[in-house]
Amino acid sequence: MEEERKLNFLEEIIEDDLKYGRVKSILTRFPPEPNGYLHLGHAKSLCINFGLAQKYGGKTNLRYDDTNPVKEDTEYVDSIKEDIRWMGFQWDKELYASDYFDQLYEWAEQLIQRGLAYVDDQTQEEISKGRGTVDKPGTPSPWRDRSVEENLRLFREMRDGKYTDGEKVLRAKIDMAHPNMMFRDPLLYRIKHASHHRTGDKWCIYPMYDFTHGQCDSIEHITHSICTLEFDVHRPLYDWFIQTLGIFPSHQYEFARLNLTYTLMSKRKLLELVQKGIVSGWDDPRMPTLCGVRRRGYTPEALKEFCDRIGVSKRDQLMDIQLLEWCVRQDLNARSNRYMVVQDPVKLTIVNYPEGQVEWFDCPLNPADPEGAARKVPFSRNLWIERADFMEDAPKKFFRLKPDGEVRLKYTYIIKCEEVVKDAEGNVVELKCTYDPSTKPGAGEWRSVKGTIHWVEAGHAREVELRNYDRLFTLADMSQVPEDRDYKDFLNPESLSVTSGLAEPALLEDKSGIAVQFERCAYYIKDKDSTEEKAVFNRTATLKDSYRPE
Ligand code: ATP
Ligand code: MG
Repeated sequence: MEEERKLNFLEEIIEDDLKYGRVKSILTRFPPEPNGYLHLGHAKSLCINFGLAQKYGGKTNLRYDDTNPVKEDTEYVDSIKEDIRWMGFQWDKELYASDYFDQLYEWAEQLIQRGLAYVDDQTQEEISKGRGTVDKPGTPSPWRDRSVEENLRLFREMRDGKYTDGEKVLRAKIDMAHPNMMFRDPLLYRIKHASHHRTGDKWCIYPMYDFTHGQCDSIEHITHSICTLEFDVHRPLYDWFIQTLGIFPSHQYEFARLNLTYTLMSKRKLLELVQKGIVSGWDDPRMPTLCGVRRRGYTPEALKEFCDRIGVSKRDQLMDIQLLEWCVRQDLNARSNRYMVVQDPVKLTIVNYPEGQVEWFDCPLNPADPEGAARKVPFSRNLWIERADFMEDAPKKFFRLKPDGEVRLKYTYIIKCEEVVKDAEGNVVELKCTYDPSTKPGAGEWRSVKGTIHWVEAGHAREVELRNYDRLFTLADMSQVPEDRDYKDFLNPESLSVTSGLAEPALLEDKSGIAVQFERCAYYIKDKDSTEEKAVFNRTATLKDSYRPE
């Protein structure tokens, strides 16, 4: 049942716009820069942009914000599409800011003609210094009053490759004393002699973000251009270009970006982790990238539920990663198939069970659906159980196996521990038990015992590699890394531990495509590193956690 939820501020704006006929239908866009892989923050942006369009019968464009040829690559373009599809979203048009380079260039010349833009020969440093401060007006560039003809000539020469990188820039001529620093003659174009992943060597000048984004929105008739809060100060400039050029009035709205505890989401830093080999790649299951969490076993359903729960706000906040983990568990608990895997095995022999006999039990794949699909689980005289499920000097409240104690082997019989075999050092090496044939489920009367433990039949057990992941960082608020420290000082040395397990054979045949539950232990998903000889499983999440959402 869906709970009635209050409209968020974006939904209020859209409902109002539709109600008063300011827009007929809504068109949003998702504007990634193809300079890295999408991460959990982008998932929030995807849910908002695609979610709003879906809710109000509109559409969403995928527009690559590809104005910086040096950092961009088709590898990223492709991965972004794959991740959006995986999230279950379908864009209307696939577009690129670079599709509009000709149009943007034309608009730049138009501004020059109207005396609203000029070529500046100052260096980057001189330009920054000349901007002034919030309390101090800027100083006009000595090149600010060039004639229209000279500006046009110089700008065309810039385009034609006559100058080196940084030698000249094109700036808007607005107001060097404007209280909003954004208006102090913002840069429109810079020179960059670099090949672009789509336009090749056609251009050696590239438009700046502020001169690109709003106009691209406008060209596409985007009605609601939704971005993160740091663009709030850019909005007046966004509007200024649209008004000055007299083009379709797209509007920008800002929401708080997602920050998560123990997590970094800056693409620059994620790239560094990959390049330095600190993680195995963009899709390392510890990475907050969508390909990373996918390989970890997180589901799009869980990510969407998480985004829904955190909502859309106008105030930056640090969200608890435990809420995301909780959403993952909720989803997997409802849907995942169950299997038994013993991680720290101790041998268990059923001494009164016939030698050489194997019995196959039909066990439900999901207990929520006992009549649903089943798996076949073999049982015999020789089994493995979890070492921690046996205790010699057990306290009263220990309901698992102990000397002379009874326990049910999940899905099968009740057994009794008759003898504990130890090696010379006193370690338990074998538990000799008897079983009670009358306790077979479905046969006769149901006798209950307090404890049920999982197990694996020794003859059919398959060894699997287990990669147990934990948080990548040890600091809850990664924005609080002290000035004199590096974020890499806070890497968790125990973020990965590799162990092994003995699995029931059906696990290797699982076709569900999502993470499975190792009963009583954790959720795991089969990894692409698996081979014919050895399957590899990544731990998605532990089973239990005391965390409860508010
Ligand atoms: P980063 O700082 O990680 O490099 P970015 O903002 O430069 O991120 P883009 O590729 O430009 O990344 O982002 C595409 C869209 O996703 C933008 O609209 C951006 O505002 C949004 N976005 C990026 N990071 C987050 C985040 N942490 N939370 C919500 N939205 C985000
Ligand atoms: Mg960006």
